[in-house]
Amino acid sequence: MHICNHRIETDETGSIVRMSRRDIIQGLAAGTIAVATAGCVTNPETGRLQLALASDSQVAQLAAASWDEQKKAEPISRDPAANRRLQNVGTRIAQASGRGNENWEFVVFDTPAVNAFVLPGNHVGFYKGLMDITVEDDHMAAVLGHEVGHVTGGHVRERVSQQIFASGLGTAASLGAAIRPDSRTAGLIGAAFGIGSQVVLLKFSRDQEAEADRLGVDYMVRAGYKAPKSIELWERMAAAAAKAGSQRPPEFLSTHPSEATRIENLRRYINSKGYAVV
Ligand SMILES: [Zn+2]
Repeated sequence: MHICNHRIETDETGSIVRMSRRDIIQGLAAGTIAVATAGCVTNPETGRLQLALASDSQVAQLAAASWDEQKKAEPISRDPAANRRLQNVGTRIAQASGRGNENWEFVVFDTPAVNAFVLPGNHVGFYKGLMDITVEDDHMAAVLGHEVGHVTGGHVRERVSQQIFASGLGTAASLGAAIRPDSRTAGLIGAAFGIGSQVVLLKFSRDQEAEADRLGVDYMVRAGYKAPKSIELWERMAAAAAKAGSQRPPEFLSTHPSEATRIENLRRYINSKGYAVV
């Protein structure tokens, strides 16, 4: 099926297996065309048309609940140096993304997990284990730039909306229900988020990951960090994975595969924007 200029392919369970860009909306039943028009918004940061079957406030509300659970479930670091560092780099990246006037919360989780995440509502979690890999502030800026790119790119709402649509709720008849919170929709949105620590494992599509990579480099450069350090970050991540072996690969890599094409695309983007020659 096609929606918001994207082709959405689902498997027999209704889960999205693949999406690709198309120029026209076709093959939709009359009812879903209404959704395609009513449920699409243009993202102001990327200019991209996105499916939006949940409101920003609904998504922010769910994210806030997940964030509270996360903070109860994991030990929070009181190390002043680590907290200062995250606060400093994070604030610079938030400002560079054009959202410096919003409230941001930065928390260092004191576990060896190699992971970081940013939730809608500007809640940033960064694990001690990843801090040990992001030895320079430029590396940390690369991670945070990417994560903030998921926020400005509206990726969580898009993902949640795709799940709602794929589950069959996104028909014209149920569009009202999908936009107005009711128990059925809230349950679905909750399922898309998962609970507790699972929220950080919310899987983004390959296209969203690539978009977050590009936005992340833009924010890094705007904040005064060095773009080529983003490539170095992924190389360091891959090295950490190789060192850990298959036993315990970095958590960040389970949602962010550090394959050669990702680094190559980053390299091409940095060169094309004239940020550096890499
Ligand atoms: Zn990502």
